[in-house]
Amino acid sequence: MKQQICILGSTGSIGTQALEVIRNHADLYEVYALTANNRWQELAMQARQFHPAAVVIANEAHYDALADVLADQPEIKVYAGTKALEEIVEAEPINVVLAAMVGFAGLVPTIRAIKAHKKVCLANKETLVVAGQLIMQLVEQYHATLLPVDSEHSAIFQSLTGEGTNEIEKILLTCSGGPFRLYTHNQLQAVRAVDALYHPTWTMGPKITIDSATLMNKGFEVIEARWLFDVPSEKIQVLIHPQSIVHSAVQFCDGGIKAQLGVPDMRLPIQYAFSFPERLTLNTPRVNLFHQPLEFFEPDTERFKCLTLAYDAIGKGGNMPCILNAANEVANEAFRNAQCSFLAIADIIERTMQSVTFDASPDLDVYLQTDAEARRMTAESL
Ligand code: NDP
Ligand code: MG
Repeated sequence: MKQQICILGSTGSIGTQALEVIRNHADLYEVYALTANNRWQELAMQARQFHPAAVVIANEAHYDALADVLADQPEIKVYAGTKALEEIVEAEPINVVLAAMVGFAGLVPTIRAIKAHKKVCLANKETLVVAGQLIMQLVEQYHATLLPVDSEHSAIFQSLTGEGTNEIEKILLTCSGGPFRLYTHNQLQAVRAVDALYHPTWTMGPKITIDSATLMNKGFEVIEARWLFDVPSEKIQVLIHPQSIVHSAVQFCDGGIKAQLGVPDMRLPIQYAFSFPERLTLNTPRVNLFHQPLEFFEPDTERFKCLTLAYDAIGKGGNMPCILNAANEVANEAFRNAQCSFLAIADIIERTMQSVTFDASPDLDVYLQTDAEARRMTAESL
């Protein structure tokens, strides 16, 4: 029986690479549902190629156009709206939900997939940043399977496979350093969105590319690792590794370090999440260690303040990481629209973290309120 897969965010960077994985292993996987937000033409094209049972366009304004263009494919059901997106993950035939939407919008559909006992392959890191404690509680309560897709977390997960309850001394979380790794404070002051939208080793969606340039992405990954592997943030160390070959590592209580290495290509972690515990063939270039230097440096948390803010947020706990995430989503977009400078991003987020009502033990409703309040305050402070 082929695994039936639902991709939330199929038109994005992760979504399209996941479709490649599925195409390459069509004997094992089949697309059941595809979803997007605005890019309805791309969604329609994917639907023609992969013949899902359903497609969902989150932005209802595009429903008519999408339904029209797929009118000659009556076996593909077309839905629109956030509610439809949250419901589709529960469809009975679906075995695997790949959460590859960007941002806070991924939270509720991911919760619905966990509660529907689907295997959840999680790329949408914001879900764990915002509500990591709640998500991990639900995973336990519903005996759900949650597998990381983020390359660092996949590397950590691969390093932990076979280790049982062996004690983790430290997680070594690697980071390319982004395009501005060697920039001075003055140079950082002048960078524009076009400069930041270029990443030296990975090709990704625009939001995460900016987060990678500010190192907020790495801060988010610290929080993500804290929840996925139940390791306090003090034991998660960030290492700048410009070559992006060591995807992360785990140091155990005997000092032994296990790492996963490979070329930077998201198809591996996506495929590994689908096929775990098996490994499937993947036709990428191989790392040649004879020609591949591996360097590691300490991050500069003064030039890249977002990393410090993320450690602060997880240290404080409660809804603070949710505030961090919402403020970042607004500031990130403002920077992309040339409404604030690169260095202002961290200052804007810091101000919001100081202003929004703190809640030490939030539930889902509190997260939803916090997100709305933090977005409003950040937008007002621009
Ligand atoms: P993209 O921006 O390329 O794609 C995002 C996808 O989500 C698109 O399909 C988009 O639809 C959809 N989407 C956006 N907003 C909404 C919304 N409000 N409701 C419903 N659907 C929405 O992002 P990436 O693929 O780069 O990243 C996706 C997630 O994976 C992020 O959380 C990111 O942090 C994480 N990730 C990404 C990596 C990468 O290499 N790209 C690596 C590790 C993690 P539309 O196309 O219509 O806008
Ligand atoms: Mg990553």
